[in-house]
Amino acid sequence: MSTGIRFDGVSVAYGGNTVLESFGLTVEPGEFMALLGPSGSGKTTALRAVAGFVRPTAGRVFIGDRDVTDLPPHRRGIGMVVQQYALFPHMKVDANVAFGLKARKAPRSEIAARVAEALEMTGMSAYAGRYPRELSGGQQQRVAVARALAVRPGVLLLDEPLSALDAQLRSGMLAELARLHRELPDVSMLYVTHDQIEALTLADRIAVMDGGRLQDCGTPQDLYRRPGTAFTASFVGGANLLPVTVADGGGVHLGGTRLDVAAGG
Ligand code: ADP
Repeated sequence: MSTGIRFDGVSVAYGGNTVLESFGLTVEPGEFMALLGPSGSGKTTALRAVAGFVRPTAGRVFIGDRDVTDLPPHRRGIGMVVQQYALFPHMKVDANVAFGLKARKAPRSEIAARVAEALEMTGMSAYAGRYPRELSGGQQQRVAVARALAVRPGVLLLDEPLSALDAQLRSGMLAELARLHRELPDVSMLYVTHDQIEALTLADRIAVMDGGRLQDCGTPQDLYRRPGTAFTASFVGGANLLPVTVADGGGVHLGGTRLDVAAGG
């Protein structure tokens, strides 16, 4: 199933305090979109509006051509991965991955096949019988990705999935996510991060947020070379902070190192 995501004038308020304001954004089918902005800019709130964990005070959310604004999370066709893995500690890896399918009352044979497929896709087949506490942080995050993929979502929502990992695991996981994006051309990905390098490396397009509003949106190359706002220039360009360059061919470089992991698998 090929789907995209569309925010149509979405606002969200907590206790009268508007934290997402008239947010409009389209993620094309199969596109990897990063929501990039500083802490508190409303990125997670936007993601949670797609997941169905917060209710907009105004506007509509569409997945594909379905208006999902009033649907519960389990009927939206999404998979979600959050920062702290959130695996069930008392369940083995396979049971964790099967969880969403069981909740949907999928037939037992289908559950087994999909769990195997998702573990294979994330390189975690050998760990099916382990408990989360027996895995490294990076492995646990792979299981969390497998759990999200097991329901074969049209939309994968990722909320700072690398931020709990140490630097080495983070770069491995970055490459894994780039590979999954290549291998799942029909799955739209919405990826929340405050890290410019992650966004520049992974995303087809980046939506820059500040103060609950969309500031800018474009390809990494466009935003870096021709930022549409002063905020984008200071945040994405960050030329004084990060020696990031974008080559004509599209590769992203940090200093002399090519960061574009798309070819590295
Ligand atoms: P980001 O993901 O960019 O860090 P968030 O969407 O998490 O931003 O938060 C945006 C704003 O909304 C912040 O000021 C935050 O404190 C506030 N906020 C987030 N969740 C809640 C909540 N459940 N109740 C009240 N305020 C919240």
